[in-house]
Amino acid sequence: MSAPSWLPLRRDLSPLSPYGAPQVPAQASLNTNENPYSPSPELQRAIADAVLKVSSELNRYPDRDAVSLRTKLAEYINSRSSTKLGSQNIWAANGSNEIIQSIFLAFGEGAALGFTPSYSMHPLIAKVCGTKWIDGKRNPDFTINISAALEEIAGHKPSLTFITTPNNPTGGALSIEDIKRLADAAGKVGGLLVVDEAYAEFSSQESAVTLIASNPHVIVIRTMSKAFAFAGARVGYMVCDSCVTDAMMLVRLPYHLSALTQAAASVAIDFKDELLGYVSTLIKSRDSLVRELEDLGLRTIPSAANFILFTGFKADAPKLWSELLGKGVLIRDVGLAGYLRVSIGNEAENTLFISALKELI
Ligand SMILES: *Cc1c(COP(=O)(O)O)cnc(C)c1O
Repeated sequence: MSAPSWLPLRRDLSPLSPYGAPQVPAQASLNTNENPYSPSPELQRAIADAVLKVSSELNRYPDRDAVSLRTKLAEYINSRSSTKLGSQNIWAANGSNEIIQSIFLAFGEGAALGFTPSYSMHPLIAKVCGTKWIDGKRNPDFTINISAALEEIAGHKPSLTFITTPNNPTGGALSIEDIKRLADAAGKVGGLLVVDEAYAEFSSQESAVTLIASNPHVIVIRTMSKAFAFAGARVGYMVCDSCVTDAMMLVRLPYHLSALTQAAASVAIDFKDELLGYVSTLIKSRDSLVRELEDLGLRTIPSAANFILFTGFKADAPKLWSELLGKGVLIRDVGLAGYLRVSIGNEAENTLFISALKELI
């Protein structure tokens, strides 16, 4: 950022650039892994009713600890993973990015290790919070080299080790056995393993929430932004040992989660069957989009999420990206030379994407 010299910006921030996925109008918005299906009229009405109800008390601060929402989130996790977690094992915030920030504020005194390419906000939030970031690398096929990762954890002794599974932007998921080995290694050096599971509902791998009871060094981050089709409401949460939750209380801002957000999120969880119903549709669309891309002679990276990273086109990635935008299709240039990422949209969006691509490559 080129800040003027009179501005007393922290010196360690001046080399950084803000997060900036382009927000431009397009016929098909397939760039931020949102769920393309908007809430049903019934869900919209239920949210409006719940918001109306809390509106009469907006002169008061909300429940600072969001206990009722956290209880519902725990029940949701238990229903998916056969765990026995309670509200003390959940912390909720305005999107999982706020959760990530709180993790750095609470535990970021030592270094943080992550394996790139992965979610770009992990290193950016680390730097903003003054935590040293160590870039571990992935294999050329974007899988994590587990034995190299174990060595890096043992060697650097990071306070925080980040993995994203399924990984964004590449799409691959880790097995629970591999996550357990990384968690044991993180625990052995007195650190925490942070497992960002923003896309867990799209994957058939077992969730790392099942490890928490036997290994308190595991933190799992979840979000309502993707599978739950609730990105606009800003709700993310973490699943963890109750001691980790207690530490969150030190760094959270008072009354951080508004009464409106808490009410709307509770209703969305009540409608989980409707919202998660779209997940299987999106998985089917993902699998057919993979076939269509391969039929065009392109190569895809195996994905367990609601997006596909693909390569094998002749133009360079920024050029193809802007040509697609010219045809009304907004996808994502994630900064990997020769690769582009497309989020799975609804049928019309996917069709438009493939037909635009056909004309360009
Ligand atoms: C989209 C995404 C998030 C979501 O962030 P929110 O703040 O909850 O919307 C978190 N982690 C990863 C890896 C993501 O791709």
